Amino acid sequence: MKYYILFGPPGAGKGTQAGAMVERYNLCHLSTGELLRSEIAAGTPLGLQAKSLIEAGNLVPDEVVEGMIESKFASTKGVDGFLLDGFPRTIAQAEALDAMLAKTKEEVTACVSIMIPDAMIHERIAKRALIEGRADDAKDEVVQNRINTYHAKTEPLIQYYKACGKYREINGVGTIEEVRERIFKTMD
Ligand code: ADP
Repeated sequence: MKYYILFGPPGAGKGTQAGAMVERYNLCHLSTGELLRSEIAAGTPLGLQAKSLIEAGNLVPDEVVEGMIESKFASTKGVDGFLLDGFPRTIAQAEALDAMLAKTKEEVTACVSIMIPDAMIHERIAKRALIEGRADDAKDEVVQNRINTYHAKTEPLIQYYKACGKYREINGVGTIEEVRERIFKTMD
């Protein structure tokens, strides 16, 4: 199985590009943000625990997302691999992922990173807020907290995947089609 990590700051276009990637490479798209939002919508205990954290722009505990990912790995059939979107988001999660895959003698295939400048993050999220109505996109201070959390806790993963030679960076500035072609070229 292939295990691709789709990496990038909030608003980089991960969700937008994921659809074309899973189709072309027969992957299962696992977005921890989407999984958490459906737990919230269904009113599960996990959703209740996650709701206030997400709406304040904070991360949910590592164990929560690790559990969700591992159970999806076990239950998904008929694909050539996974596209992990929004996971791992901390070094601890990356180490947990490595440990999970090591159980079956597997490993991360590559970390595909879509990069945009900070100023563009604000611009894109403001636009998405009008279209999708996500609670965590609506308030400036929450968006800023997510960006700060990204720099403090998630950005160190770039070094983590560079160190093992698995990091591939794509320029996320351009049209959806331009960025998609850059991603395909790198993955091919
Ligand atoms: P974005 O990439 O636009 O910030 P996501 O949909 O990936 O949005 O995630 C939304 C929120 O869900 C995050 O701000 C965080 O609170 C929570 N979340 C998603 N993935 C994780 C994760 N791997 N670890 C901890 N929290 C997560």
